[in-house]
Amino acid sequence: MGNDGGSIAERAELVKLKKPEKRVESYLVAKLRAQFCSLTKERLRKPIACCRVGYLYNYDSLLKAFMDKKIPQELKHLQNMKKVKKLNITENTDQNNEFPFICSISQKALNGKDKFLALWNCGCVFNKKLIKDLKIKELKCPICNKQYTDKDIVQLCPTNEDAEIKKAQVQKEIQLKDKQKEDQKQQFKVFDAVENLEQQQKKKICTEECKMMRKAMDNNKLQNLQNQSQDVKKNEIYQSLFHQQHKLEDNLFTRNVRFGNR
Ligand SMILES: [Zn+2]
Repeated sequence: MGNDGGSIAERAELVKLKKPEKRVESYLVAKLRAQFCSLTKERLRKPIACCRVGYLYNYDSLLKAFMDKKIPQELKHLQNMKKVKKLNITENTDQNNEFPFICSISQKALNGKDKFLALWNCGCVFNKKLIKDLKIKELKCPICNKQYTDKDIVQLCPTNEDAEIKKAQVQKEIQLKDKQKEDQKQQFKVFDAVENLEQQQKKKICTEECKMMRKAMDNNKLQNLQNQSQDVKKNEIYQSLFHQQHKLEDNLFTRNVRFGNR
């Protein structure tokens, strides 16, 4: 039989050998990320920033890249400067140490091996072990004492595997936010359409009301004119009656004078 116990044992040996190799490789990557800018590959120097994935960047280089619109494809999760956080971090003054930054409380170097956290709300960076060492139970920043939530926690200098998982999460969040924005836009469009319809209906009602009012005014005017005309006629009749009375009186006077009845 070809598939005997020996060949299975060989494969198991290979897997055993592969694991520590991978771990060393991952550590080397994380170590480089603790020393060099993930954008320019230059040595990190203050001011620095991190992204949600946990990569570190020289802040000024990032600004320039955004201004020149030169963000590489592998950093496409960096949509704009809102997707990075400027960090409150302490420089390593030990000239013999290869790592440029330390935890300001524990004095431990940010070396890519020990877990370091950055908080998105305040920008502070500290050694994760510090929380346990100081027995901090609340979600309060050990550096500035500001409260934070789980969403604010960014683990710095991830391994390649962790970075890929984190990038996928960030990408998903971006897509979700884009979808929410699109949905909101559609809702606003519906609101606008309803509002327009209401405005048009109001206008229509208004126009009809205006027409009715104009008609009523016209009727009123007509009535007034008719009344005026009737008044004129009445006046004319009265005038003529008055005139006729005068005429009659004049005739009687003339006749009396002629017949000497005065
Ligand atoms: Zn803080």
